[in-house]
Amino acid sequence: MTAAEAPAVAETAPRPSQRPGWWARLRRNHLAVLGLAILAAIVLTAVAAPILPLPDPNATDLPARLAAPFTPGHLLGADQLGRDMLSRIVWGTRVSLAVGAAAALAAALVGSLIGIVAGFYGRWVDTVLMRAIDMLMAFPYLLLALAIVAALGPGLLNALFAISIVNVPFFARSVRGVTLGLVRRDYVDAARLGGQGDLSILTGEILPNLLPVIVITLSTTLGWMILETAGLSFLGLGAQPPQADLGSMLGEARSLVLVAPHVALIPGLVILLLVIGINLVGDGIRDLLDPRLRSGGLVRPGAATEVAPDAGSLAGDPPDPAALLSVRNLSTHFLLGGERYKAADDVSFDLAPGECLGIVGESGSGKSVTALSILGLVPTPPGRIVKGHIRYRGRDLLCLPLSELQELRGNRIACIFQDPLGTLNPLMTVGEQIAETIRRHQGKGRADAMARAIELMDRVRIPDAAGRAASYPHELSGGQRQRIGIAMALANDPDIIIADEPTTALDVTIQAEVLDLLRDLRRERDTALLFITHDFGVVSDLCDRVMVMYAGRVVETGPVAEVLRDPRHPYTRRLLSCVPVLGRPERALDAIPGLPPAVNRLPRGCHFADRCDRVIDRCRAADVELDPLAPGRASRCIRAREA
Ligand code: ADP
Ligand code: MG
Repeated sequence: MTAAEAPAVAETAPRPSQRPGWWARLRRNHLAVLGLAILAAIVLTAVAAPILPLPDPNATDLPARLAAPFTPGHLLGADQLGRDMLSRIVWGTRVSLAVGAAAALAAALVGSLIGIVAGFYGRWVDTVLMRAIDMLMAFPYLLLALAIVAALGPGLLNALFAISIVNVPFFARSVRGVTLGLVRRDYVDAARLGGQGDLSILTGEILPNLLPVIVITLSTTLGWMILETAGLSFLGLGAQPPQADLGSMLGEARSLVLVAPHVALIPGLVILLLVIGINLVGDGIRDLLDPRLRSGGLVRPGAATEVAPDAGSLAGDPPDPAALLSVRNLSTHFLLGGERYKAADDVSFDLAPGECLGIVGESGSGKSVTALSILGLVPTPPGRIVKGHIRYRGRDLLCLPLSELQELRGNRIACIFQDPLGTLNPLMTVGEQIAETIRRHQGKGRADAMARAIELMDRVRIPDAAGRAASYPHELSGGQRQRIGIAMALANDPDIIIADEPTTALDVTIQAEVLDLLRDLRRERDTALLFITHDFGVVSDLCDRVMVMYAGRVVETGPVAEVLRDPRHPYTRRLLSCVPVLGRPERALDAIPGLPPAVNRLPRGCHFADRCDRVIDRCRAADVELDPLAPGRASRCIRAREA
């Protein structure tokens, strides 16, 4: 092979992995490599102490007292009792390292456990644990360590206890903070809503995301703990004579600094090198693992939206038996600080098999709340379904026990969300995440599920699906991530897909591709689609029927073509005039003046009255009912029938 052929071959050959391994990434960080070299040299020497040809570290040789370095027989000289410095330093480092590392591990283990439990369970568990930690933190740090050793008596083991105890709060605090952020993440919610127990969520979803934080805290505090152990020994509270550790060597030598500086300098230098080495490696590890931490609130929603016991009896309208999904009088309210927010109010619609219904409205009009209520995904507290029927294949979803609802979620009724990055687990490959959805509902084995996942990725047109399955979410583009979301929704061949603004976060060309994909899939599988958007352009492209929402209520419904041609509600008309038309730059785009009313203080009469250009006095007199203009067509406007 000539040199010119080499690059061509390299390009066509399948590349096993695009990601450089952790070693390759660490190697790029020169300081970390330096730290690793220093640390490795010290640790290896300390570990090898028993097999090195060293004299007994405690054997005194008074004639050699305070011998200078490079004296024959004493490479690093001897101390005030003529003991060999080299031997004492190697054995002393061994002790310091062992005690420091053991203290760090113990503190990490106990502190992290406290932090995880407090962050995950929240409420009183959190209060009790954190106040206890606060009590530990209220004492000056070194004083507390001194007090503990004073109480237990001097000695290395007690110093180890003391150092571990005073370091527990650091781990507990930082781990709790991160756990709080994690329990509010969508993928953790998804696991919970899918029926996973606490232990499985903790070990499967939370712990892997916490490990980087624990490792980083550990690597950055290890050096500190070795210093503290040395400090206690320096004060005579740690290692007891004749045993040597770095701190006690330094302590014994402090009076000799002027006479024989090497006796103090050498242990001091080893401590310095050790701590620098550990910190450089710690920083390198932190850069490797950068976890992009976030924190969140304390409230944890239940596994399904709470439904008022009389919700069904209050809903008067009969369901459509022919519909796949029939929603009647759905009212989902949020109860916050004594206020009632009517996010979705008296919403009714039907979805036939294979049909695509678009839900349109400005931001905050209740589209997501309506869609999420179907699967009980609105968080309680503060959400609550106060009224309504949701019939799916004859069963009222609002009366189903949680386990049956979880069986439907992601299986018969699947969701696609707006922000695929937020819903995918960042530490799991996308292939595994799709496969997990399949395994959860179809009980397939790992290999089968993965094969099916790759098939699905291929179906949603991800190039090199088999290779991409091993990628992490952040390695994909926004459009590809959304395709993964769609693949997950398709995984169990659902009857209904609820897509909540799936293309809003994407640029126009990718949006067009994703819409094409959804259209093809719908044609192929006859899946019904509930498509939420604020873009009428997308609706006309994809949907059969449209439902316009305003301030939590349906204001107009009808077949897309009819609504587009002849809107019967002033709000729909204004929304339509917001859509730009290609080739007609002279057409003024009409922003709708004013803002929608707050859903906790809805005005009397028509909610749109304040922004309407056709408002008359009668509009504000009484609540406006949905006016059935024709079969499948309705408008909530008292002037809907006027020309
Ligand atoms: P959109 O139509 O943009 O999807 P949503 O359905 O998300 O709007 O929200 C409708 C109303 O419900 C908004 O006024 C919003 O502030 C409120 N809302 C949504 N989720 C919550 C929540 N978890 N807590 C309190 N209010 C909420
Ligand atoms: Mg929304």
